[in-house]
Amino acid sequence: MPDRLARLIRERQPCVALTGAGISTESGIPDFRSPGGIWDQYDPMEYATIEAFRRDPVKVWEFYAKRLDVLREAEPNPAHLALAELERRGLLEAVITQNIDRLHELAGSEDVVEVHGSIRTSVCLSCGATATFDEVVELLVDEPAPACPRCGAILKPGVVMFGELLPPVEIDRAYELARRARLLLVVGSSLEVYPAAFFPLETLAAGGELAIVNRDPTMLDSRASVVLSGSAGEVLTAAVESLR
Ligand SMILES: [Zn+2]
Repeated sequence: MPDRLARLIRERQPCVALTGAGISTESGIPDFRSPGGIWDQYDPMEYATIEAFRRDPVKVWEFYAKRLDVLREAEPNPAHLALAELERRGLLEAVITQNIDRLHELAGSEDVVEVHGSIRTSVCLSCGATATFDEVVELLVDEPAPACPRCGAILKPGVVMFGELLPPVEIDRAYELARRARLLLVVGSSLEVYPAAFFPLETLAAGGELAIVNRDPTMLDSRASVVLSGSAGEVLTAAVESLR
């Protein structure tokens, strides 16, 4: 089956990837939405909404500091590396990702469209100053929440919180990529959350095909040209191998 995926990637260019939490679980980053995930311990309404942040940013940072600890240690896995390799070979135009973990970038992917923002930078909602991931980690050594170096307000993680608008430039680009793709390669996304659920529909409506690599069934399996349910790292590594 990875052979079939490889053939589709070769024949149906441009190919664009769409990735979700499932691609990063093999890097030790838990899928927050799965049972036993972090939302069982932390009520998203208390920790992940923009209203919660405005009400009590220090409390929200107690939660984010834990996430940062996990993200700081995480490294790209074979699935991230395979997508970066496909891009280097001119077989993958871009990666659209719901993930905020920077692992595509760390794997060497150059064109990454982050539709839920990224942990890479934090921003001050008062004065607009930004701080890098490393600067925030440094600030958190001494304080429970990172203060803006310019004005002292508590910085907000650069990820899209519930109740915030998705970044319009990235969303537009993602839709455009999805429409142009003759193959949309979905990896580790259950395709349940907006906007990810809409991109494959754009591809199909424009005459493109879908390939889905996910551990669990998705709503769009019946409309995909190929569905592979194993480990994303193993499946994509095998597909890249058979493209040699
Ligand atoms: Zn500031």
